[in-house]
Amino acid sequence: MTEATISKGTDWGYAPAPESTDHIRLKERYGLFIGGKFVPPISGKYFKTINPANEKALAEVADAGEKDIDRAVQAARQAYEKVWRRMSGRERGKYVYRIARLIQERARELAVVESMDGGKPIRESRDVDIPLSAAHFFYHAGWADKLPYAFPAKKVSPIGVAGQIIPWNFPLLMVAWKVAPALACGNTVVLKPAETTPLTALLFAEICQEAGLPDGVFNLVTGAGPTGAALVNHPDLDKVAFTGSTEVGKAIQKALASRGTKLTLELGGKAAHIIFEDATIDQAVEGIINGIYFNQGHVCCAGSRLFVQESVEEEVVAKLKSRMETLIVGDPLDKNTDIGAINSRAQCDRIREYLKVGVEEGAELFQTSCAVPNRGYWVRPSFFTKVAQSHRIVQEEIFGPVLAIQTFRTLSEVLEKANNTPYGLSGGVWTDKGAKIFKVTRGIKAGVIWANTFNKFDPASPFGGYKESGYGREGGRHGLRAYVELS
Ligand code: NDP
Repeated sequence: MTEATISKGTDWGYAPAPESTDHIRLKERYGLFIGGKFVPPISGKYFKTINPANEKALAEVADAGEKDIDRAVQAARQAYEKVWRRMSGRERGKYVYRIARLIQERARELAVVESMDGGKPIRESRDVDIPLSAAHFFYHAGWADKLPYAFPAKKVSPIGVAGQIIPWNFPLLMVAWKVAPALACGNTVVLKPAETTPLTALLFAEICQEAGLPDGVFNLVTGAGPTGAALVNHPDLDKVAFTGSTEVGKAIQKALASRGTKLTLELGGKAAHIIFEDATIDQAVEGIINGIYFNQGHVCCAGSRLFVQESVEEEVVAKLKSRMETLIVGDPLDKNTDIGAINSRAQCDRIREYLKVGVEEGAELFQTSCAVPNRGYWVRPSFFTKVAQSHRIVQEEIFGPVLAIQTFRTLSEVLEKANNTPYGLSGGVWTDKGAKIFKVTRGIKAGVIWANTFNKFDPASPFGGYKESGYGREGGRHGLRAYVELS
């Protein structure tokens, strides 16, 4: 056979491979989860949660007001005083293990619902969000009866009732990051998920019921920003844990300034991702893709500021462009999809605004040529070159699939540029030289720095920031500290 006869052309594509939704049984309407039961909100108000990939409503969700928050905090207080703080760590651990196993049992359902409600590709919800959520519960279940070993020579006690507020980018995983350490350490919880992604938190409430968790140990109040503010302002909380924007984090810190309530904040980021000329460039390009386009760039630790050593800039940019052209943007439930839908119309508008700002500031925009669906919220993978340190697209968190690329010549120059940010959450470095890795990891003021990889998470590894990225750690032994009193 000649070469000509076996030519199949260049237009290679994948046939659609959609994950089935037949097994999903969402209720038409969800109440609040208070004292172990689903109850209607006192106001009788509900809002719709929609699928950002097709703008169709998935379910109605209760809008909790101040009185609902009060009921939830009272339920958590009662459960704390009468049951949970008195239970041995060993018994508590059994419940936390049970929750972990139930997440595994319902993993497929949770992954599909996560992708429908939030827009992330099923490959990510199936392979990252849900397994990591279970892993957080397994990990913390193990600590429940070993807390004295985590803090030797100290008497370890729980703090009390925790109010927890989480964002929309990793809905169930953020539930796990917040709830697992709180319960393992003997605290009870009132949690508020984001307005746009409440569904997996509601399924998690069902899981708590299935696990037989004592009533009131976990409570869920759905709603928008005012619901979060009402929770923060409730006088009977002992602890507030917040993940979200720096702006709201600052408002919460102010609101708690005159109270004894403990606070941890996991806020925004603008990570420096550094590629030295001696790095394995093909691997580094994969790292860049994973660093900024994972979860549509809705990642607080995303590698959104890329620094490439001048001598390899052309090569890196060329390889990045050609790799980006292979990214498949579209239906989050298709197993081939790399980039799903932007989480909400508001976030999509915000990202588009930044794309305009970048061009107006004089930077050069590259976007992939892929087609995007007509309905829903989409942004093509994008990057800017010819950017300056002062540009807004370099200084501000965009929270979308948009990368700003700069160059550098020397190590000291790149460290200076990398630290020129109000944030300090994460960073990354690609080099063949171990000494350079150590110099960069010591030189950058950030909570997490990856070397020759990016966006790797493990429940045993503490995560958190410096500067305007917040304070307190989540995960690992350090993460337990936020949920215990030591004496
Ligand atoms: P927010 O900080 O507004 O939201 C985070 C959580 O806080 C949500 O549950 C939100 O509720 C709630 N909330 C909103 N206002 C208040 C308030 N006054 N008091 C208490 N809780 C409140 O982030 P956004 O969703 O608006 O996203 C905006 C930007 O924040 C993003 O573009 C991104 O830059 C950054 N961000 C950073 C995250 C991170 O992981 N570090 C995560 C998410 C966002 P609701 O969603 O219902 O309004």
